[in-house]
Amino acid sequence: MASIPFGTDFSLLNMNQEKIEQLIKQLISEIGDDSSREGLVDTPKRVAKSFEKLYGGYGKDPKKLITVFDNEGYDEMIIAKDIDFYSMCEHHMLPFFGKVYIGYIPDDKIVGLSKMPRMVENFSRRLQNQERLTKQIADTLMDLLQPKGVGVVIEATHLCMKARGIEKQNCEITTSSFTGLFKSNLNTRSEFLNLIK
Ligand code: ZN
Repeated sequence: MASIPFGTDFSLLNMNQEKIEQLIKQLISEIGDDSSREGLVDTPKRVAKSFEKLYGGYGKDPKKLITVFDNEGYDEMIIAKDIDFYSMCEHHMLPFFGKVYIGYIPDDKIVGLSKMPRMVENFSRRLQNQERLTKQIADTLMDLLQPKGVGVVIEATHLCMKARGIEKQNCEITTSSFTGLFKSNLNTRSEFLNLIK
């Protein structure tokens, strides 16, 4: 399956607001409504505008957003938890959203704590699936920091399940990605899972 690789120059992919407005207007007609009625007349504009935020992750390379520092001997687990995210499911273009929990054990490098939510924001503001989002976050931290291990857990609600009336529609989906000590050492993994409870 083709995907956009890291490091792509996204500046060429800027959204064409006018084109999107036209397409949304057409879509409204196709689903059987009147795009010129009062409540809908400005909707294409609003939708196009909202896409700048919802799909704003295409504009940036997460690796360039993240500042890495030298570690001054800290060798315990670092955890960022309850990071809110909103993303769009690539199968239905409906939102899925929830919390991200990230843990890592540093080696020589650490990352500014505020940068983890920024990375999550960046990867989630695209057409995504939860499994890939989880792995992209873990892989990016591994790549940038070469830590002793990374753990990422995502809990999310998918509107495509709820709104389309799929059975067990209130269930939350949990995904996880573990590398290094988080994968090989059960104690490390349990410590992380306990700390994010
Ligand atoms: Zn879906």
